[in-house]
Amino acid sequence: MSPAAPLRDRHRAVMPSWLALYYDEPLELTHGEGRHVWDASGKRYLDFFGGILTTMTAHALPEVTKAVSEQAGRILHTSTLYLDRHMVELAERVASLSGIPDARVFFTTSGTEANDAALLLATTYRGSNQILAMRNSYHGRSFSTVGVTGNTSWSPTSLSPLQTLYVHGGVRGRGPYAHLDDRRFIEACAADLEDMLGQAHGTVAALIAEPVQGVGGFTAPPDGLYAAFREVLERHGILWITDEVQTGWGRTGDHLWGWQAHAASGPPDLLTFAKGIGNGMSIGGVVARADVMNCLEANSISTFGGSPVTMAAGLANLTYLIEHDLQGNARRVGGLLLERLRAIGAGLTVVHEVRGRGLMAGVELAGRDGSPSPRAAARTLEHARELGLLIGKGGREGNTLRVAPPMTLTVAEAEEGAAILEEALRRAQQDLAAEETS
Ligand code: PMP
Repeated sequence: MSPAAPLRDRHRAVMPSWLALYYDEPLELTHGEGRHVWDASGKRYLDFFGGILTTMTAHALPEVTKAVSEQAGRILHTSTLYLDRHMVELAERVASLSGIPDARVFFTTSGTEANDAALLLATTYRGSNQILAMRNSYHGRSFSTVGVTGNTSWSPTSLSPLQTLYVHGGVRGRGPYAHLDDRRFIEACAADLEDMLGQAHGTVAALIAEPVQGVGGFTAPPDGLYAAFREVLERHGILWITDEVQTGWGRTGDHLWGWQAHAASGPPDLLTFAKGIGNGMSIGGVVARADVMNCLEANSISTFGGSPVTMAAGLANLTYLIEHDLQGNARRVGGLLLERLRAIGAGLTVVHEVRGRGLMAGVELAGRDGSPSPRAAARTLEHARELGLLIGKGGREGNTLRVAPPMTLTVAEAEEGAAILEEALRRAQQDLAAEETS
């Protein structure tokens, strides 16, 4: 019996049957440091996934640990009814970094809640429950956010309080426009957007989109797509919500936010963030133009949103990120890592495509006939784990490996992780070949 089996069995007995765990023998992680984590048996792993990008800077970053423990030892009231110095300061910094003029910030505890709040604001402001979203998108699994999640393999129900119109463009290499060059692709997607608007029942509230689709497999449209969309939206008074839950805080290397790759369009009306900003503590949030944020008649929309301990963590983490130019590190080390992964992919038949930006790399896998291979992804995850590397997977068919290490990743660690991944891919390719011939 594996050492993790008793805990796994207790997990299965008491938790929902749909709550998936990675790995044939699920991992119990006990602690971390820098870019490494350890499991209950004492085995060390290089972490190339950061718990789905939640560990943004580093595991057990001393600056964040200190901020959390000091605040936890001081006062633990958790409600938005009182003033909190860290909350106000973090909001000021997020507002000024957001690029949205006269921005207001509301904190939540997760990305789903942040998107839920953004949808609440946009639908209330516009008096419409019609939303535009991208095919293959992921925005969360609450009642409203499943309704804008185009990647249906990740959305547990088709019921939703929203009327959603899905448009093309989030994935460059898929759909009827895949053969077009970037300029024509953008034109075709903008025309598709206009066409969808022609099918709407009057007022449409907003477009919600991830600049790089995360769960969808780290796929990005050509730069400028959202600038073209923005022109169409502005003509109709429709708001633009950019979901920066995965792309925020400089992870894409060239920009602090994913929307800035489409900068000609100017800033979005609403921006949501979560995951990494708390470096493991639960923080999400929505930033919006003041008139949009202030359209609600409410006292608050959350008790825990922006609780003092998480705000102290977020502030310490953001300060570290900026002082150490981790966006620059994501650009430099992420660029090297992508180059290395592309070279590895060129030598392996199981690798269909390597893509990404900064420290967000997607490795899409295919079988010998070129069809998506979730099996190859599952095998690679297992082999990488054996070899001491944690990675993620995603994509519509679950056949894309996702690499998104903490943003303090060093060049040596990038090279070490890439070498392990190469070996894991080679072994997965052998497994597939053996299965096909047996
Ligand atoms: N938006 C995006 C783009 C995400 O990737 C995720 C989480 N994978 C969410 C929203 C939801 O965030 P959370 O899981 O914190 O609710």
